[in-house]
This record gives sequence, structure tokens and C-alpha cells, in this order.
Amino acid sequence: MASRVTFSQDRCKGCGLCITVCPKHIIFLDKTKTNKRGYHPATVVEMAACIGCANCARMCPDSVIMVERNIEED
Ligand code: SF4
Ligand code: SF4
Repeated sequence: MASRVTFSQDRCKGCGLCITVCPKHIIFLDKTKTNKRGYHPATVVEMAACIGCANCARMCPDSVIMVERNIEED
């Protein structure tokens, strides 16, 4: 079963806290995007590697991240 991480990217302030706590090192700031607040928003680059630990969602001070576990894969 897979996990899916969703970012409300327009709320992200690019603080990078979620990046520091991801044990799989799959979160990055997307330098190709600038959100409504003027920041490069966080994103997951390799969703298949996510273990659904939700460290990122717990750490985010702005509740940007939602983690779903055990989702059906396409
Ligand atoms: S749920 Fe865990 S493994 Fe997945 S992106 Fe967040 S911190 Fe990384
Ligand atoms: S912790 Fe939240 S606000 Fe900070 S970079 Fe990650 S998603 Fe954005």
C-alpha cells in the first residue's frame, strides 16, 4: 500500500522544516514555482519512496501538508 503527501502550496512559507524531518529525504523546495505568498513551496519529488510516517505534516507550523496512508495505487 502506498502513501500520498499533498501540499497546500499557496500556504507554504518555504521554511524547510518538513525537509529536515523527512527520513527518506524526498521533500524539496520547488524553485521552479513561486506561490501566492512569494515563496518557493515544498513538494515531494519521489512519492513512491514515502513511508507515510507523517513527520513532515506534524512538523509544519502552517498545516500545509496532508499525509494519507494505505491508499489504493492506480
Ligand atoms: S510522510 Fe514521512 S517519508 Fe513521507 S514525505 Fe513526509 S516525512 Fe517524508
Ligand atoms: S514545514 Fe510547512 S511551511 Fe515549512 S517548507 Fe514545509 S510545507 Fe512549507
